[in-house]
Formats: sequence, C-alpha cells, structure tokens
Amino acid sequence: MRRISVLGATGSIGASTLDLIDRAGGAEAFDVVALTGANNIEELAQHARRLNARIAVTADESRLDDLRAALDGSGVEAAAGVAALEDAAREPADWTMSAIVGAAGLRPSFAAAGRGGTLALANKESLVCAGRLLLDCCARGDTTLLPADSEHSAIFQALQGERAATVERVIVTASGGPFRTFTTDQMRDVTPEQAVAHPNWDMGVGISIDSASMFNKALELVEAKYLFDLTPDQIEVLVHPQSIVHSMVGFRDGSLIAQLGPPDMRGAIGYALDYPERRALPVERVDFAKLARLDFEAPDPERFPALRIAKDVLEAGGRAGTVMNAAKEAAMAGFLDRRIGFLDMAVLVERALDAVACDGEPESLDEVLALDAEARAAVAEAMKRMDR
Ligand code: NDP
Repeated sequence: MRRISVLGATGSIGASTLDLIDRAGGAEAFDVVALTGANNIEELAQHARRLNARIAVTADESRLDDLRAALDGSGVEAAAGVAALEDAAREPADWTMSAIVGAAGLRPSFAAAGRGGTLALANKESLVCAGRLLLDCCARGDTTLLPADSEHSAIFQALQGERAATVERVIVTASGGPFRTFTTDQMRDVTPEQAVAHPNWDMGVGISIDSASMFNKALELVEAKYLFDLTPDQIEVLVHPQSIVHSMVGFRDGSLIAQLGPPDMRGAIGYALDYPERRALPVERVDFAKLARLDFEAPDPERFPALRIAKDVLEAGGRAGTVMNAAKEAAMAGFLDRRIGFLDMAVLVERALDAVACDGEPESLDEVLALDAEARAAVAEAMKRMDR
C-alpha cells in the first residue's frame, strides 16, 4: 500500500487532496502516515479517524489535550508543536502533500524533502524563500519534487517529453483576482471581505488575498524560476480572467504548449498524486461552446505593484524572496486586522526589501528563518507609523 502524508490536511488544498484520497479508496487503498493541521482540531481528528492515520499533529501545542480527546479510542497517535510537525513530515512515506500555508510550511517541507519518495508541493513559499536549498535537499534525499500549484503543474505537464534547452519562455497565467478591473483609487478602500472573494477559485484566506493583490503571482514567478531553472527574462505573466488556461510554455520554434482545465485544484493535485499516470478525476469538463471565449490581457504593474516587486526579487535571488514573502505575510495580517489598507501591503513589502540586506541565495534554512524574522520586524516597525 502506498504510504501518504498530508501536511495542512485541514486547509483548502488539504480538503481537495483528501477528497481524491477518499475517492480512490481511502484507508483501504492508502496507508495514511501523518495528517497535520493547526486550529481545526475536530476536523483533523475526523480525517485521521476516517483514514486510520498513524499520527495526527496540530501545530498548536496548547491544543494537544483537545486533539487527544478528539482522537480518544481511535488508535491514532496525537502530537503537537512545530517539532512534532517536522517529525511527522520526516516519517517514511511514499507521497507527501506539503500544503501548510505560508512560511510556517518551510521546515515541514524540508523535512519531507530530505526523506525520499515524492513531495507534492502546494506550499509555494518553500520555493520562494529557499528554492535552491529545497532543490538541493530533494536531490540529497532522492526525493521527487512535483508541483501542486495549478500554474506550475501546467508548465510541468507542457514540458513532458520536451528538452529544457528548447524552452524559450513560460507564460504564467493570472486570473487578475476580484480587483482586475479596479482603478488604484477603487482599491484604496477595499475590505478584507472583498479581497477574499475570488471570482474563480475557492481557496484559503491567505492565497485569496494574495490573488487580489497579485502577490500570489509574484510568488509564483519566483516559484517557477526555481522549479524549472529559468532566467528572469524567460518568465512572463498574462492575465486570463477565466482561469482555464493554467499556463503555457513557449519553445524556440515559436510553438506554445498550454495546459487547460477547469479551475479546480483537484486537477493539479490529482496529476501529482498519480504521476506519471493520468487517472480519472472528478473535475468538471471544459465546455468550449459554453465558454464561447477565452480572454487575455497584459498585466498592469502600476495598479498591481506586486508584479513590479517580483521582477526585482527574481533578479535578486532567494534572500529577497524570503523578505518579500515574510513582509507580505506580516502586512496581510495587518490588512486582515484592518490596521492598514489594501494598497499599504505592497508599500510595506517594498520598505522591507529596502530595509533588509537581501541580495543572493541563502546558505541555510536557519538563515532563511532569521531573514524572515528580520523582515517581519521591519514591517511591524513600519506599520506602527502607518496605523490608521
Ligand atoms: P488554508 O489556509 O486553507 O490551509 C492551511 C493549512 O495549514 C491548514 O491545514 C491549517 O490548519 C494549516 N496551518 C495554518 N497555520 C499553520 C501553522 N502555523 N503551522 C502549521 N500548519 C498551519 O490554505 P490553502 O490550502 O489555501 O493553501 C495552502 C498552501 O497551498 C499555501 O502555500 C498556498 O499558497 C498553496 N496553494 C493553495 C491553493 C488553493 O487553491 N488553495 C492553490 C495553489 C497553492 P488549520 O486549518 O487546522 O488551522
């Protein structure tokens, strides 16, 4: 039986992953090693019971007793805390989904990357902050890294059977989010509730806000650079409001190969789950006659400064990726708490990139985490001066 672990099992990607696992036979078909979560203890325990997991871990140490109680009599081992998450990620498994949100997913991603088997990566932050280190760690651990982000899965699928040397460019598509047609003035006063309401995708809060600000695309450009060994000038963004073309690869003969599908993360996750097989997936089929049209627009870095910031980060390297991501996470927390406005998030990220020395590639995960802390402190300081 295939041994699998799902890190971030109680989130949006976790739910899609477990849905596919349930449909493929659940505990009858898989040996579920570890499931992890943070706040949603009841949900974590329910999944662990249903799938007969060996261990369930919450990131929150203060909830260990709650988790134990929820698992009472099930035979599932309960654990809590950051070290327990890493230990769970390190448990031997053939396939691991890394779907913890944000920089909190770094250490567990690395623990799984060093252990062998397949690492399906939804936690893009691991590549943004420590791309080179993660690839090295996978190589040392003999771990196969597969993208679970829809754009990167699309690029990966378009590259099957192709030689890397023939790739001219990749075109990463972006829905444009809920504010695609807003002017800068209109974006000034948008609320967290408006920002979280994505027109096409049903996702966690963090990535939904990132999609609205286009920081999600900024992260994805950096993710693509490391995953596919691209130079910054090979990576383009194209706004495509319908989210049907998930991304494309352009080759030196002028050909483009695109991957298309419905906006349902089970497509990309299912591809990573069964790669190199393609199994039947419960996703809607694209009906072109019903769609009638697919639209494409140039991105606008003036209204969405995250795209301009991404260009600098792509040039500067992984340390800048860490600072961008940490500053963005800290600024987003401020936006969600209504301490700052929507547009202030990009301002704060730029300030952090100016304030923290961050050229080049980090040499260790500890260095990445120290930079992450420095960037968050820089944002906290700048935010005090911005408080509304
Ligand atoms: P969610 O917010 O829906 O879920 C996040 C998961 O991480 C939950 O299981 C949550 O636990 C857990 N978690 C939260 N904080 C911590 C912490 N400090 N330590 C450990 N675990 C924690 O996020 P998504 O599923 O939307 O996204 C997960 C990752 O996948 C992100 O990196 C995102 O960018 C990426 N991604 C998501 C896509 C999507 O469609 N959602 C698409 C492509 C990539 P709990 O719920 O129990 O608190």
